[in-house]
Amino acid sequence: MNSQHPIADVIVVGLGPTGMSLAALLGQQGVQTVVLERYESLYNLPRAAAFDDETMRTFQKLGVAEKMLPGTNVQDRYIWVNGKDDVLLDIAFENPGPCGWPAQYMMYQPHVETVLDELIESLPTVEVHRGCLVTTLEQDEDAVTVTAVGLDGAQSTFRGRYLVGCDGGNGFVRKALGVGLDDYNFYENWLVCDFRLHHDVSRVPAFRQVCNPDDPIAIVNIGPGHHRFSFRLEAGVTREEAEQPDRVWPRVADYVTPDEADLTRIANYTYSSSLAQRWRDRRVLLAGDAAHQMPPFLAQGMVSGIRDARNLSWKLGMVLAGNSDELLDSYEQEREPHVRFIIEKAIELGRVQTMRDHEQAKQRDAQMIAARQANEKPDKLEYLPLSGGLISNGGELFPQGVVSSPEKTGLFDDVVGTGWLMIVNCPASLSALPKEMRHGFAELGGREVTFGIGSTFEVPDLSDTGGVYTRWFRENGYVGAIVRPDSYIYGLAPDQQGLAALTRELLGQLARPV
Ligand SMILES: Cc1cc2nc3c(=O)[nH]c(=O)nc-3n(C[C@H](O)[C@H](O)[C@H](O)COP(=O)(O)OP(=O)(O)OC[C@H]3O[C@@H](n4cnc5c(N)ncnc54)[C@H](O)[C@@H]3O)c2cc1C
Repeated sequence: MNSQHPIADVIVVGLGPTGMSLAALLGQQGVQTVVLERYESLYNLPRAAAFDDETMRTFQKLGVAEKMLPGTNVQDRYIWVNGKDDVLLDIAFENPGPCGWPAQYMMYQPHVETVLDELIESLPTVEVHRGCLVTTLEQDEDAVTVTAVGLDGAQSTFRGRYLVGCDGGNGFVRKALGVGLDDYNFYENWLVCDFRLHHDVSRVPAFRQVCNPDDPIAIVNIGPGHHRFSFRLEAGVTREEAEQPDRVWPRVADYVTPDEADLTRIANYTYSSSLAQRWRDRRVLLAGDAAHQMPPFLAQGMVSGIRDARNLSWKLGMVLAGNSDELLDSYEQEREPHVRFIIEKAIELGRVQTMRDHEQAKQRDAQMIAARQANEKPDKLEYLPLSGGLISNGGELFPQGVVSSPEKTGLFDDVVGTGWLMIVNCPASLSALPKEMRHGFAELGGREVTFGIGSTFEVPDLSDTGGVYTRWFRENGYVGAIVRPDSYIYGLAPDQQGLAALTRELLGQLARPV
């Protein structure tokens, strides 16, 4: 029997972290969303180990940041040692980072997914079908049609005005579109061993990359009470042999014993690195691992998928509300170069961390130890700003600090909310903005937000309680910024004329010329 369902605004295929975040972001905007997931229940085992402050800001937007905290540990340092335990690199993570939350969290992924799942289930706009394997996909001028097979073998047909494939690295949607992969040909075969600790074990470091050419190991906590040891698969050992618990315990004996922990999972992963050659085919888009895969050396795979979801969700919302669907082209234009840079960084870092050649590893150690002794600050890991697409001269995330309005004090996004925002240093900076531009911006749903940082006779909307914005405006010499619904800066204005030009450019790009 083939059951038909009413047309949805968006179909999301796959309920991993990308699909969950996207469905929640769409559902909260009132977009009618149908999610199709092949498994009947949550995977319930950890894969990813860490996320950053930008991801936490997205969880904040979804209203679940506080709920994430019990499944996370704030990570304060990023440490590499060599086989002799000499420290090669020791970077302190910022706390708070630019997004207003600690820059790095270690997480227990089942906790994070349970929180997102409960959120999705609570949204009347999101309908989740589990145990539903998508097997065919077609699109016409008006909609995308997929068929899915349930666990009982019954077929269902779903139609959506748009469809996003969040169905992972080996996903069906990309293949159905005939989209190829750019493969970096960087493959690493690793054994990931997860433990539940009975109590705190002082010998277990919270975070260590052991750069031993004979046996590189990554030791990371994966949220409260859980720890992961990852080893490169030894040459000449089969997967089956490597996955025997009796072979794993001796490898961790210096850190933890069976009296102190349960070995909860042994999984063999071949890390790969690739990018989909196109992320959009008319009404179908790709996000998360379906669009890009990377080795976990930078802990940015899931994080990048959640960035995709954040970037795409408000654009789909605007298009469904009647804006031109050319806006959806800006998704790949902005996200592809960003994630390409991160994949290449992750490969570069992985190569240095896991050097097999003893002579090269010795040279690496000598250089890194000398740099530490000379008090050289290690390069801060910074990613590219967004460019192209719907970005003028911005592309960075608008920082998040503590502000006060007459009603409340808190993080900027909680006090002001998100959306199209024109944020200026003082009310006077808006005075040269022609009425029709202010009107055009308001028609977009945009709001004006004023600080009292420049000289002003009018009362501003916000006080800069935490001091972040006084520094930010003064250091950069801007009077204002236009910030997008995903908190990325569309553009920055050095003066009032610049602000008018920026507003005109934005409205022109969105086909609302003034
Ligand atoms: C060992 C390891 C460590 C990692 N560490 C980190 C880290 O610390 N930080 C980080 O950010 N990332 C990390 N990653 C990467 C991260 O796990 C992935 O990038 C992330 O899981 C991708 O999420 P996704 O939702 O895009 O895809 P997936 O998690 O693969 O989800 C895809 C979903 O689609 C469903 N699906 C597939 N096909 C169909 C179909 N035809 N019909 C219906 N449903 C379908 C699947 O069942 C699945 O639920 C790590 C990965 C590994 C392996």
